[in-house]
Formats: sequence, C-alpha cells, structure tokens
Amino acid sequence: MVRFDQVSKRYAGGKEALSGVSFELDRGELAFLTGHSGAGKSTLLKLMMLMERPSRGQVFVDGQNLNRLRQGQVPYHRRKVGVVFQNHQLLFDRPVYDNVALPLQIAGYSPLDCARRVRAALDSVGLLHLEQRNPIELSGGEQQRVGIARAVVNKPSLLLADEPTGNLDPELSAEIMNLFVRFQQVGVTVLIATHDIALIERMGKRRLILDHGQMGGDLHVGNAG
Ligand code: ADP
Ligand code: ADP
Repeated sequence: MVRFDQVSKRYAGGKEALSGVSFELDRGELAFLTGHSGAGKSTLLKLMMLMERPSRGQVFVDGQNLNRLRQGQVPYHRRKVGVVFQNHQLLFDRPVYDNVALPLQIAGYSPLDCARRVRAALDSVGLLHLEQRNPIELSGGEQQRVGIARAVVNKPSLLLADEPTGNLDPELSAEIMNLFVRFQQVGVTVLIATHDIALIERMGKRRLILDHGQMGGDLHVGNAG
C-alpha cells in the first residue's frame, strides 16, 4: 500500500530532514512511526499527503508513484489519504456535523450521501449523539475523535496520524489508539507518528524508528501486523 524507495528530503536552506529512507507498509497493516523530535516523522507523513515533495527517491501509495502524479490528480490522491493532527484543527464556528462533512462538501457529495457518510463516520468513533454540538463544548478526547471522524469520512484506504494523542492523558490515548486498530481491522492501512513509547509497547504493533532522518529500526512484533 505504501512504499518508500531511497527517499531523501532537504528543505530549502535546511539540512536533510530524511536521508535514503526505504520501507513498505502492506494493505491493512498498522505501524507506529517513532523517533526524537526533528527525526523527520512529520516530513515522512507530509510526503505521503503530497504536502511536500521528495528531493530524491520515490514514494508509492496504492501503486501510484507520487512523483508521476499530475497536479490535477492531487485532490483524488488526497481523498485516499485521511489525516489526523495533534491539534485536530476543528472549526469552532460550526457544529460537529459540519466539521466532519467538510471533506465531502469539498468533494461534491450530495447532501443525502453526505448525511449517510457523516453519520457512519461519527458512529465509528462513538460520537453520533454529539453531532449538533459545537466542538468547543467537547472534551479533548471527544475533539480528537471528531478529528478522526473527519479523517475517515471519505473512507480513505490510508490513514495517517501525527501525534494524535499528544494532548491526551494515558487512558484517553489508549482509547484513541484502539480506534485506529478498529480501522485497521476493517482493512485500512494506518501509520501513526507518536512519542508515546509506553503506549505503543503495550499495543504490540510494528514500529518504524527514525533517527536523524534515517530509518534506524523496523521492529515487527509477533504477527500482530
Ligand atoms: P519530527 O516530526 O520527527 O519532529 P520533522 O519532519 O518535523 O520531524 O522535521 C525534521 C527536520 O526537518 C527538522 O530538523 C526540522 O527542523 C526540519 N524541517 C521540518 N519542516 C521544515 C521546513 N518547512 N523548512 C525547513 N526545515 C524543516
Ligand atoms: P512536529 O515536531 O510535530 O513535527 P514542529 O514544531 O517540528 O512539529 O513543526 C511544526 C511545523 O513547522 C511543521 O509544519 C514543520 O514542517 C514546520 N517546521 C519545522 N521546522 C521548521 C524549520 N526549521 N523551518 C521552517 N519550518 C519548520
């Protein structure tokens, strides 16, 4: 589902954020991406969402070489990739429902299709009962779940998360991680960048370790995927 082939990224005026990174993620696999602050985790995720382009090497998502994607295909690519941020980036001037519906409205879904998909996404994170609330009234864990619902509302085949539990206590963090596992169980490929080593050790999943822009480890735990 994902293949990095000798990928390097140097920002304009900066040092190399990624150096010769190669790895593969199978369809339906869940892996964690760890490494010190500045190791290159966000950069690696941004290359998959086409928020950045590699300086060298190739990134494949769902069989597509992203270097070969024409500008007009970028919106279709982004629909295949759901993204969850630490700060969830919700809009506080509209209810939960509208926040989750946003990617569908951009993609041009009819209101009826939109309603069906938004409710399915909210149901998948256990928040159907809060659809008319303003996200500002919700707890941090609930806000993050709204962010996840918005990320999956397009039914992406790849789900990326950048420090999704960064602001949450351990119990809520575990709940959020279990949500990601549930998406994996229905066939979504999931990659989660996180500092939370204690939590991911308990999850028993594959762990990719970045160290100063290089792939410093790829730990497969049992056959947990
Ligand atoms: P992480 O997510 O592991 O903290 P990042 O991918 O954010 O790491 O950053 C990797 C390196 O690239 C860091 O040295 C960071 O300062 C640098 N970097 C990230 N984004 C940019 C940018 N837009 N311009 C210049 N340097 C950047
Ligand atoms: P994280 O550790 O979660 O990646 P950062 O604080 O490193 O967060 O980065 C926050 C944002 O700033 C990111 O979009 C990143 O690309 C950008 N950034 C990081 N380092 C630099 C840099 N040296 N120059 C310009 N932008 C940067």
